[in-house]
Amino acid sequence: MARVKFVAGNWKMNTNKAQAVELAKGVVDGAKSITGVEIGVAAPFVYLDAVGQVVNGTNVLLGAQDAYFENNGAFTGEISVAMLKDLGVKFCLTGHSERRHVIGETPELVGKKAAAIYGNGLILVHCVGEKLEERDANKTLDVVKAQIDELDNKLIDDPARLVIAYEPVWAIGTGRTATDEQAQEVHAFIREYLGKKWNTQFAEQVRIQYGGSMKPENARGLMSQKDVDGGLIGGAALKADSFLKIVEAGK
Ligand code: PEP
Repeated sequence: MARVKFVAGNWKMNTNKAQAVELAKGVVDGAKSITGVEIGVAAPFVYLDAVGQVVNGTNVLLGAQDAYFENNGAFTGEISVAMLKDLGVKFCLTGHSERRHVIGETPELVGKKAAAIYGNGLILVHCVGEKLEERDANKTLDVVKAQIDELDNKLIDDPARLVIAYEPVWAIGTGRTATDEQAQEVHAFIREYLGKKWNTQFAEQVRIQYGGSMKPENARGLMSQKDVDGGLIGGAALKADSFLKIVEAGK
């Protein structure tokens, strides 16, 4: 069965409420005529409700950028998966490089969050990727493998609800993109490793997104690679027209 590409915007800590709603409306309008690609927007927590009112019930999935692993209780400032579901959130990121390397999340914490997101019924978009010095030291595949090992293969049993986003850290927000071949090489490795960790039939169905300065000009080349099943888009997702051009490139 062919994998349906999944293109998702990661708005990060951008927009105000009015801009978030405007952007969501632009994406929903443009997405109406698009079939054959799954589309999502991961909005800041505080705008999820407002953005959800625009996208829920359309072909644009509401996403969150993070979630805490406990359901409720004395965890000041944190947001649970149950709270996200209450607002209509359908997918949630874990392990984004900014959370790993800027906020300082440990692999253990990322793993607990991944388990909570998947275990509570959302689509899990688990981000992996190497830093520049790790690529230069030929450690890319080891890094990616260790980050995939944050996932509990006894818990995760539905390939449709697992998405891996390969995002080389040196390509995020830098304007520097992996070449089509560099992306495909790592994506093929990821699929092979998923096959070992689960089984090949499961691995064949998991979507592996590319992220890192994807834009309308390079999206088609990247997404035409055999194992590139969509994109996680930062900067270029902040304008509806550039985001929609990337979505179109995934058709
Ligand atoms: C991201 O943060 O997930 C990302 C891919 O950002 P950008 O597209 O801006 O590199």
